[in-house]
This record gives sequence, C-alpha cells and structure tokens, in this order.
Amino acid sequence: MAFRQQIEAISGQNANLCYQCSKCSAGCPMAAWMDLKPAQIMHSIRLGREEAVLNSKSIWLCVGCETCSARCPQQVEPAAAMTAARALALQNGIQPGVKEIGLYYNGFISNMRLNGKIHDASVAGITQLLTGQLKDNLPLAWKLLVRGRVKPPPLPLGGGNFRRIYKRAMEKERGGEEVIG
Ligand code: SF4
Ligand code: SF4
Repeated sequence: MAFRQQIEAISGQNANLCYQCSKCSAGCPMAAWMDLKPAQIMHSIRLGREEAVLNSKSIWLCVGCETCSARCPQQVEPAAAMTAARALALQNGIQPGVKEIGLYYNGFISNMRLNGKIHDASVAGITQLLTGQLKDNLPLAWKLLVRGRVKPPPLPLGGGNFRRIYKRAMEKERGGEEVIG
C-alpha cells in the first residue's frame, strides 16, 4: 500500500484535500521546533515522501493539541496524520527523531507497567537522568519536594492488569515493544 494510503487507513485523513493554506502551521505551538511544519507534513504525505515524514522530528514533537485540526478550512486533521506517522515509524523500526522523546516514551510505559498508572515525578526524573538534565533541575525538584508537590509512588504497585493488556497489544503489533528507545 502506498504511503499516503497507509496514513489514510490509520488516521482517516485524506492528504489530497489539503490545499496548503498553512493555517495549521501558523497555529501550531510546536512549529518553531519542527523540521517539517504541519502543512509540510501534509504536503509530504500527499507526495509520498515516506522517508522524510517518518524520519522527521515533527511527528515526535507534536503534542496532540489539535489546534491544527481545529483551524483547517478543509476539515483535514494534521494531528491525526502525525499520530499515524508515529505509529508507522514504530512499525518500521524507525527510532524517534528526538532522542529525549524516545526515552520519555520508554519511561512512561515502564512506569505504567510497574504502577498501573503514571507517577509523574518518576517519569520526569528518569527521563532527565538519562538525558543528562537532572543535575540542572535538582534545585527545582528539591523545592517541589519540600513543598509537598512531589508524592512518593503509590503502593502497593498495581501494574499487573496493565501488563496483561500491554502484552496482548504488543502481540498484535508485531514486536512494537522493542522499537522505542
Ligand atoms: S490548514 Fe488544512 S488545508 Fe491548510 S495547509 Fe493545513 S491541512 Fe492543509
Ligand atoms: S496537534 Fe501537533 S501538529 Fe497540530 S497544532 Fe498541535 S502540536 Fe502542532
């Protein structure tokens, strides 16, 4: 199946409807850091530029706020196309174009498997440790701790049900578990 059709099958978005007005890019809060702006992502999907899209930083920097989708006069949803591109990148074994985000995803899933729900401080702390940013943020972490804004992880750890669901999902996704990080 061609790349544009793969994106359409996952997201329901028809890139051919995009007429490149760039309203999506203008409203995107992450556009300044993206290598391909949302309108360029849509154009690239339309042209079948699979490698450019799946290796872009943009699909990992998208925070899913859906501003782009809300602004589109053609009712195209670039946010959904971004999500579909991320899924295809992972299916194809392509590492996230932003290393820190790959580490964050791994930390998030590991935390869910352990706790059954997210313990924000653990995910943030581990991600910062692995990306070398922990030292700079220690003063802030200490302030939050002193003011009781950082809670200890919930006990007992209740990740059993999540682990079972996750295992089943991964079995369906053909080895998707190993592709991040
Ligand atoms: S707002 Fe819609 S039509 Fe305009 S460039 Fe973005 S996706 Fe295309
Ligand atoms: S959903 Fe993603 S691409 Fe769309 S505006 Fe938000 S950050 Fe930008």
